[in-house]
Amino acid sequence: MADTIFREFFLGFIRVHILHHAAREGVYGLGMIEELARHGYDLSPGTMYPLLHTMERNGYLTREDRHVNGRPRKYYVITEFGREVLAEARVKIAELTGSASTRGPGRSSATGSEAPPRPATRRAARR
Ligand SMILES: [Zn+2]
Repeated sequence: MADTIFREFFLGFIRVHILHHAAREGVYGLGMIEELARHGYDLSPGTMYPLLHTMERNGYLTREDRHVNGRPRKYYVITEFGREVLAEARVKIAELTGSASTRGPGRSSATGSEAPPRPATRRAARR
């Protein structure tokens, strides 16, 4: 049960979180496990590494081998596509949490039912 909830919901948050950090400085598996632990997620390497691999394969991340203290370490940094997805995810999260200020102009809701139509204060159509 808990595992189902984890897969259905939290993996999505975790992916966004990984993108967020990969956009700033690049991430590596163990570091990301520790970072997510700070946020209360308990991920095993057996979950984290396949997740990073999948995100790389799907084009959100790209791998960079760096040397840290003389040892190779696989870093993942965000791709251009990953940035687009992250930006879109931020808009959706903001909508969900009610900070509608991030809504750009011209993105009115499709229902159009919450506001009555404005009285026709007709301006001469100026362009
Ligand atoms: Zn974080």
